[in-house]
Amino acid sequence: MSTQHEVVLIKGDGIGPEVIGAAQRLIEATGVRIAWIERQAGLEHFEKHGEVLPESTLDALRQHTVAFKGPTATPIGKGHRSVNVQIRQKLNLFAAVRPVRSIAGIPTRYENVEVVIVRENTEGLYSGIEHEVVPGVVESLKIVTEAGSTRIAEFAFKYAETRGRKRVTVFHKANIMKMSDGLFLDCARRVAKQHPSIEYNELIIDNGCMQVVRDPSRFDILLLENLYGDIMSDLCAALVGGLGVVPGANFGDRLAVFESVHGSAPDIAGKGLANPLAAIMSGVMMLNHLNETPAADRIKRAYNAMLAEGKPEERTRDIGGTAGTAQFTDALIKRL
Ligand code: ATP
Repeated sequence: MSTQHEVVLIKGDGIGPEVIGAAQRLIEATGVRIAWIERQAGLEHFEKHGEVLPESTLDALRQHTVAFKGPTATPIGKGHRSVNVQIRQKLNLFAAVRPVRSIAGIPTRYENVEVVIVRENTEGLYSGIEHEVVPGVVESLKIVTEAGSTRIAEFAFKYAETRGRKRVTVFHKANIMKMSDGLFLDCARRVAKQHPSIEYNELIIDNGCMQVVRDPSRFDILLLENLYGDIMSDLCAALVGGLGVVPGANFGDRLAVFESVHGSAPDIAGKGLANPLAAIMSGVMMLNHLNETPAADRIKRAYNAMLAEGKPEERTRDIGGTAGTAQFTDALIKRL
């Protein structure tokens, strides 16, 4: 009998329970044994219990070290701090890894996108330190540390080496933010020198966005500070079919939280329309992390084959199909 893994489960808000439920069904269909330790976080939990991120959720993450998480909603311009940001900062999940790949059968402008976004997850403008200096003037602090910048650069280069990748490109705005982005860049350059087998490039972020949209095949690993990484993730998602098909993981030294790039999608929540593929792909990343590679490969082969066939009833609406979340998941489970 295979080992039983213990994984903390946070279903989240909006489409979270729908897509996480679909991914759980698929993982369970592979026969991998997981004891799901369900914990709460997010806006819905806040509305019922007055707490957005209970300490019991953080404790479970510290204890079990692996979590599978749905998106959590954050009010715009007011209210509580983002749960995602709090989890990443409190647990020091400093590296967000987001593989963005073209999938055969999903029509997009490009067929050859194969990039991995490595985003610094704990610093930058996400420090959340903002104040009103005088009425009508607000200051928001961008925090960049040598330790944090070096740590994420090392992560990106090691990731490149262990995965047989060739190139790391840093995106920055050190021409304007000479000190903060300048420090990020200095650290990346220093780390690059210690990894001569990996090609190293730099691009100013605005030009970099244009270059990525113009020819994504030039890029391999994209290394970015927090806010640029957030924006670049959605930009790259659009190159391969949208947010419904981009998975993600957040890594610390010991902990890992697997979650899609997309948010809670309130416009389609509760309607059974969400594409669960991003959550399923995040589940595949988690299975690999748990050394359940054969199960991960089975799921991957199943969705690649199904999407390549291109039947509208076997894909969700965001990628040109007619299926709902459940119909898509049922079809995928049959393929296993
Ligand atoms: P957040 O700020 O919480 O990251 P967001 O503002 O990026 O959220 P999302 O919730 O990710 O927004 O949604 C952006 C758009 O993408 C919405 O129109 C939403 O319906 C769509 N979308 C996001 N995820 C999915 C999905 N899994 N399936 C289908 N459509 C999705």
